[in-house]
Order: sequence, then C-alpha cells, then structure tokens
Amino acid sequence: MNKNSANRTILILFLAIIIPIAFYTVYQVQSLNKNEEILSEIYKNQLESIIFSVNQYSDDILKSLQYKIENRLENGDPIDANTLLSYPGIAEVIIKPLSGKPIFTASGDSSVYTSLLEKTLSENENKVKKLIDYKKVDFTKLEPLDPITFQGEQLNLLILVLKSKDDLAIGLIVIRPIDFIEGTLAPKMQQISGANFIITARSEIDQALIFSTDTISDVEARSLPFWLLPDHQIGIVQKGDSLETISKERIQLNFVWIAILSVVVLLGFYVVARNLRKEMQLAQMKSDFASSVSHEIRTPLTLINMFAETLLLKRVPTEEKKQEYYEIITKETSRLKNIVNKILNFSQMENKKRTFELISDYLNDILKETIHTYSFHLENKGFSYQVEYGEESPFINADREAITEAIINLIDNAMKYSGESKKLNIFSGTKSHYTFVAVQDFGIGIDPKKQKLIFDKFFRVTEGDLYNVQGAGLGLSIVKNIMDAHNGKIEIESSLGKGSTFKLLFPIKQD
Ligand code: ADP
Repeated sequence: MNKNSANRTILILFLAIIIPIAFYTVYQVQSLNKNEEILSEIYKNQLESIIFSVNQYSDDILKSLQYKIENRLENGDPIDANTLLSYPGIAEVIIKPLSGKPIFTASGDSSVYTSLLEKTLSENENKVKKLIDYKKVDFTKLEPLDPITFQGEQLNLLILVLKSKDDLAIGLIVIRPIDFIEGTLAPKMQQISGANFIITARSEIDQALIFSTDTISDVEARSLPFWLLPDHQIGIVQKGDSLETISKERIQLNFVWIAILSVVVLLGFYVVARNLRKEMQLAQMKSDFASSVSHEIRTPLTLINMFAETLLLKRVPTEEKKQEYYEIITKETSRLKNIVNKILNFSQMENKKRTFELISDYLNDILKETIHTYSFHLENKGFSYQVEYGEESPFINADREAITEAIINLIDNAMKYSGESKKLNIFSGTKSHYTFVAVQDFGIGIDPKKQKLIFDKFFRVTEGDLYNVQGAGLGLSIVKNIMDAHNGKIEIESSLGKGSTFKLLFPIKQD
C-alpha cells in the first residue's frame, strides 16, 4: 500500500530538511565557539594594550629623565637635582663615569648611595657590559634590577648607560615603588582607565593592593608585571559586566535560540510527516472508497437488471414468483437509494452545504417511527431485537430526518458487524442534561485503539473477517456530523468479540 511511498516521502523530507538543518546547527554551534575564542582573544589584547600604555608611560618618564641628564653631561653643564627628583617615588639618581668616582647624586648625599652603586655594579657586571654595548650602537636601555631592601626600605633599582662629554657614564635610579606608583603613575592610570576599566597595582610577592583607580569587586581579568618594577603587577578589570561575561551570555542566549529553533524544526517536521502520512492514508481510503461504493452499487443494480429482464421476457411461470421478483426489485432499489442518499449527504456535508432544520421534538417519537419503518428490514435479515423506551422523553431540538438517518446508520452497522449473533437491543433514556438513544449489538466489537478513528471519513477496519463486510466508511462520519449539528455527543462501549453499544446523546431543551 501507499505506506511505503509515505515512508519514502518522509525520508526524502528528512534528508532534504533535517540533515541540512542539523549540519547548519552544528556549524553554527562551532562558529559560536570560534567567535567566543576570537572575542576573548580580542578582549585579552585590548586589556594588554591598556596595561602596555601604563608601562609605556613610566618608561617615557624615565627616558625623559635620561635625555635631560645626557644633555647636560654632553654639554658639561651642571645637572639640576630638583628636576630629577620632581617625580614622586624617584628617591635618588647617581651618575658616575665608567671609571672614576660618582660625579653627581641628586640628593646631594653621596655617602648613602655611593656604596650601593658600587655594590650594584659589581653584582651586575654582565648587565652593565651589555648596556655599554647597546649604548655604543646608540641604544639606551633602562635595565631594572632585582629589588632590594635598603635601610629597612623596599627599593627598586634601575641602571642605564649615558653619553657624557668625554666618556660613557653609568646612572643608577633608585625608586620607592609605592610612592612611584601612587604619586607618579596614578594620575596617568586614572586617565587611561577611563569610564570602562579599573586599573590596579599590586605587589607581586603578597598580592597586596597598592593602588586602584576605583574600588574593585572582581579579580583582575588580566595582570602583567610593571616593566620597571618587576616585583609589581599592573592589573585590569572591566567595570560592570566584562566583555567576556557579556559575550558568554550572548553566546548562551544564541545556544538557547538554536536549541529552540531545532526543537521547532523537529516539531514542524513531525507535524508535516504526520499530516503527510494522514493525507496518504486518506488518499488510500478514498481509492478504497471508490471501489467499495462501486461494489455496493453493482450488486443491487445487477439484481434489479436480472429480475427486470426476466419479467420483461415474460419468463416467470407463476404470479407468486412475479410478486417475489417485484419485491426484490423494490428492495434493491431502496438499497440503491440509500447508498446514493448516503453519498449525497456525505458530499453535502463535505461542502458544508448540508442544512439542518431543528424543531422541538421528542426523541422517543423519532425512535418509534424509525423502528416502525425499519422493523421489516431487521426481521427480514433474521434479527431478533428488543426496543425499550426511556420513561420520560423531554423535548430536544431535532431535525427528524437527520436523526432517523443517524439511528438507521447505527442499526445498519450493528447488523453488518453482528457476525453470527443476530440480536440487537435498542433503547432510549435520560442521562444528566442529555436524552439518548442507543443501539447495542453482540457482534465482533471494535479494537479500543480504533474507536476514535471510526468517525473519520472513509475509515474502515479492514483486518480480519470485516474485510468481507461491505461499506464505504461514510456512515459514522455522517452520524458524527448530524450529532455535531445537534450539539450532541456519541459514546461507544465496545470490546472485541463481545459487541458494541453506540449511544447518541442529545441536549435536553431548556425551556
Ligand atoms: P462502513 O460501515 O461503511 O465501513 P462506517 O463509517 O459506518 O463505515 O463505520 C466505520 C467502521 O467502524 C466500520 O468499517 C467498522 O469497522 C466499524 N464499526 C462501525 N460500527 C460497528 C459495530 N457496531 N461493530 C463493530 N464495528 C463497527
């Protein structure tokens, strides 16, 4: 059957939609991860460049000192101590020709630091040699040395080689780091930090905070050493949410959207696949319908045709036989009429053209009339039946013809699906706000899984013995349509092999 082609179509749909979407989703997830990496790299670089500018500034200050000193040394002019010590944190500057005694101490107190200079030079001979080599190619490097404790004070030292009039000279710059950071660098750090960042300075040894441009609540996103004070660190934090946090949040949000979209696509696929399967089943049912209707119509037509021809050819021996043939023709014609009516009603129902004329009526009366016209048919088919009318029959809004049609459909089905039992119960009654009519058979029953489906148009249970029973799958969909028009309900109680009870419930008129 079409099930295979439905499955094939669903598979194609799956391949054509879901697989590309799956690939796209994986690609998106990967590129989101990549974006996050790129973003955090950019962010890291940005932070580092801010730290760089603080370092650059401190370097610039000491370079400007160096130029000032060199200028004077080259011209043989005296060096102005005040200029050199004007930057807070610069404790001392000592200058000494490569050979010979120190010629200048900014503090004027040569005794204190001269011995320090001698000691430092002898301990850092190699570094000095390198600085001299650099200077020979006209490159001045400020070389930070290991910090020292001098006279109970934590100090940082820098040596540099300077040009002078006759020879090269060595300079030693002594820095009080905390004063230097707080006094000299702080204003610049404040300026660089701007509105978005907080710049901090910490001692590397104990991580003690020396200075911060604002109160910090978070750890530094990035920390690097001060170039000139190697035992100290410059750190940076973003005010408010860091770019990393923002980008993480955005990426998480994107993930959530991708997940939602994937679920929606899958749901959509599921709905489409289900509809497709349903449509294909419907197409299959329609084609089954065409063949069963033709079959149902052909049987009475053949009979009518055969008996009418026999009568026409006057080949019927007795009046009795003639009477029998007339009866068969009449019966088959009415069966044909029923089939055609059913199809017409169904097509009106489908085109929403079927109208119902609802008039106050008693359900018991309608049932009585129906049984009266149908009893012959029931007995003719060898059925024994019992009818029980509910005591009280309240008014309902009813289209008499339509309700008759619905009851006949139920009785017809009860007969068709009775198998060998040939026994029916028909009864009416009242149940809360409804009055009902029920048709009970003791036939093959309906699989509970199929009970909801039997009201669908063209639906027929086609397994088992049922296949031999004729029908077009229209009857119950017409019944449902009629019940909807009456604001009524249908209830089924059925178990396989034991029989079924169909109950039509109509709302009692409230006047
Ligand atoms: P049709 O009888 O022409 O097939 P219906 O719409 O009247 O179409 O019924 C749909 C299906 O419901 C039937 O094919 C049958 O499988 C099932 N059905 C209806 N009434 C009964 C019943 N009384 N007992 C068992 N099965 C029934």
